[in-house]
Amino acid sequence: MTDNYIVFGSPYIGDEEIEAVTKTLRSGWIGSGPTVKQFEEAFAEYIGVKYAVALNSCTACLHLSMACCGLQPGDEVITTPLTFAATANSIIHVGAIPVFVDVNRQTMNIDPEKIVEAITHQTKAIIPVHFAGRPCDMDAISQIAREHNLLVIEDAAHCIEGWYHGRKIGTISPMTCFSFYVTKNMTTAEGGMICTNDSEVARKVKSYGLHGLSSDAWQRFSDKGYKHYEVIFPGFKYNMTDIAASIGICQLPLLTSWMDRREEIWKKYDEEFSDLPCWVPAEPEANTFHAKHLYILLLDIDSVKITRDQLIVALHKRGIGTGVHYRSLHLHKYYKEHFNFQANDFPNANWISDRTISLPLSANIANHEVDRVVDGVYEILTGQQKSV
Ligand SMILES: *Cc1c(COP(=O)(O)O)cnc(C)c1O
Repeated sequence: MTDNYIVFGSPYIGDEEIEAVTKTLRSGWIGSGPTVKQFEEAFAEYIGVKYAVALNSCTACLHLSMACCGLQPGDEVITTPLTFAATANSIIHVGAIPVFVDVNRQTMNIDPEKIVEAITHQTKAIIPVHFAGRPCDMDAISQIAREHNLLVIEDAAHCIEGWYHGRKIGTISPMTCFSFYVTKNMTTAEGGMICTNDSEVARKVKSYGLHGLSSDAWQRFSDKGYKHYEVIFPGFKYNMTDIAASIGICQLPLLTSWMDRREEIWKKYDEEFSDLPCWVPAEPEANTFHAKHLYILLLDIDSVKITRDQLIVALHKRGIGTGVHYRSLHLHKYYKEHFNFQANDFPNANWISDRTISLPLSANIANHEVDRVVDGVYEILTGQQKSV
């Protein structure tokens, strides 16, 4: 890699984050402690929800959101195949069965009409994923859930800043899971957060994420003397550290200015790529706010001479890192073999899988780098049209 390689999804880390981490390291308390609590409170306030519980990943959040609601082997959970592996893997971690429902080609989000068709007596929950930062049709999904008595857990790994019909993402469903993985809109290196208004859910998630210890395990000494902790559930080791939380506290207030910058880049890409043999992202739906996590181009592979993978390599050779979000999960070895999927079982997810490429989109990249991306895509795709 050359010095001026544009790394896809490289995070912004400023002096403030470095100082905060150093301060935590010197404080004598680097595990889960007061800084995690402070981060949880700040995040709950930002989202506008009563409780935010920090864990060490969004995957852990998804897993515990199901574990604490008693999902069991044999239960079915409906989700999209066009997502990161963590969404479906976490369903399997509780022993349940992921049931994929195809996406809409324009929004790339789960298609509510097809959710209804997939519901059986075993269906217990729906996990919509706000793909690329675009809020799902939550009115339709919430209504289906009410009618069929299903739990909704939102995978909002891409959608920290999202709004849907006047409501902040994170306040709509019983539980919403966010990610602070390095490439996400904000990072704690590794980390995740569950938001809920249900005190019982918050208490359980906290406990299950720390070996299933009773939630008052911290207060060992009280007026009544020494108190032993109790294991109330064979829980998991999912707690966030104060080191991670100290990064998150610095990042949270920067979300707005980063969004402004990503919107600038987004607009430029939209303008520059409109006449190339590819599709730019669809406009956001009315009365929603798209969190603009990923700028996805769909290459019109039927009209050009190169494949999506060849475009990735050509950009890489110009020092431009890109991503693929995603190859649909039903095409991956485990899911394909285990559930006997054919490529066309989810035609829209399959169609997107062959064409999708995510371009650098981050507050971290400079104008001259954006120009390099634009020029690169332009030069590679110009003259690639198949003759008719
Ligand atoms: C990143 C991501 C996750 C997992 O987040 P981690 O914090 O890395 O565990 C889950 N779902 C989606 C859609 C993601 O993009």
